[in-house]
Amino acid sequence: MDKLQKLEDQIARHQKYISQIRTQQRILVGQELIKCTKCHKELPANKWTYIQKHWYESPHGCMEGDTWYASKPEVCEIECPDCHGLNYLYNHQYKKRLLDIIGRYRLQPKDIFCVLRDDYPS
Ligand SMILES: [Zn+2]
Repeated sequence: MDKLQKLEDQIARHQKYISQIRTQQRILVGQELIKCTKCHKELPANKWTYIQKHWYESPHGCMEGDTWYASKPEVCEIECPDCHGLNYLYNHQYKKRLLDIIGRYRLQPKDIFCVLRDDYPS
């Protein structure tokens, strides 16, 4: 095996290792308890549904179509797995912790919550 191939194999082993560590991070973050603002129960993040909000931009020219953008997590909602009450993240006590986790560990809501549901304003 030539040197280049050995280095390539080394990279693949490390990437696999990094991916395993990322999985452990997601599992740990998923175990973070979130308190429902409606029923006041504390349940692990990986049981909640994340509701991805979107915002709309109308076409600028005759060639463009409608454009929908995903809203930032702080203006999205999460649904309690127990009472199904909607918790707005903007004023949720978990907001800062969630945004810190997303920013510091480069995670996405899909890495943290159980289900992702898209919501478009009508
Ligand atoms: Zn609840």
